[in-house]
Amino acid sequence: MNTSFLPIPEFVEPYPDENCYSILSRCAVRSALSTSRFRSEMFRNKRDLHCLLWQPFRMEDLSRWFDDAGKRVQDYLKKHSCASYRYPFLEQRNKIHLQEWQDGELLTKGQYVSLARDLGYRGWKEKYLRYCPECVKEDRETYGETYWHMIPQLPGVTVCPVHMVPLENSVLTWNNTKYDLLPAEYWLKDVRPRKEKILYDDLCVAADSKWMMENGWNSKVNFSLLTDSLSVWQFEQAEAKTSLYAVIRSVKAETLYFILLANAKGMSIADCVTQPENC
Ligand SMILES: [Zn+2]
Repeated sequence: MNTSFLPIPEFVEPYPDENCYSILSRCAVRSALSTSRFRSEMFRNKRDLHCLLWQPFRMEDLSRWFDDAGKRVQDYLKKHSCASYRYPFLEQRNKIHLQEWQDGELLTKGQYVSLARDLGYRGWKEKYLRYCPECVKEDRETYGETYWHMIPQLPGVTVCPVHMVPLENSVLTWNNTKYDLLPAEYWLKDVRPRKEKILYDDLCVAADSKWMMENGWNSKVNFSLLTDSLSVWQFEQAEAKTSLYAVIRSVKAETLYFILLANAKGMSIADCVTQPENC
């Protein structure tokens, strides 16, 4: 461990479906340092923090923070980033980079940039940090605090797949999280679910997005099963709906696009994905 950096006063244990940004925000609160001081203690270079809403911590950071960084890197990659959600739809070279990331190798700046682009979020249009009021309530009962979940931040997810209530926008945008660590517990006050009917189609997208977050790592998509016998109109519908949430150049590589194609066939994405035998 590099001793030129101060030890972190307390590194919190991550909660289920919590992004790395949220984990870091909770650490910052416990550290009693100012955000800017905490940030400079944690990272060698000035780093945009909003990437951590979807990206895992990097190996070079983890190895400064922990003696057992090698063991932790996989957990943050698979459980606290959108790598699993995106995995089967990434370019081949980025799949290899992600495997290297998992193995604890250091990537070059160019490789990080390419991965970040392909992981998706730079093409995602939603700009607010979102939350499920019921999840917030449950988190507070279970853990004594709430946190930023990853699934509500995914494109096309408008309802909570667990509580089946509409998601809400917080007052914070992704831009607010670029340089500042803003814990959900401080920013989500009076939360109440809307008494509003949700659409079955929206629930299917939310449930499939959750499934991809939990099962997508190392999986392969059966593209012929997924696209076989779909009409041109169904492809166009999926493309149009995806374009509401993602910029046009990335639409046909988005996980959402493939979820919508599966749903158009009356299937779930799980029916079109093969997982490795050891899963
Ligand atoms: Zn919920």
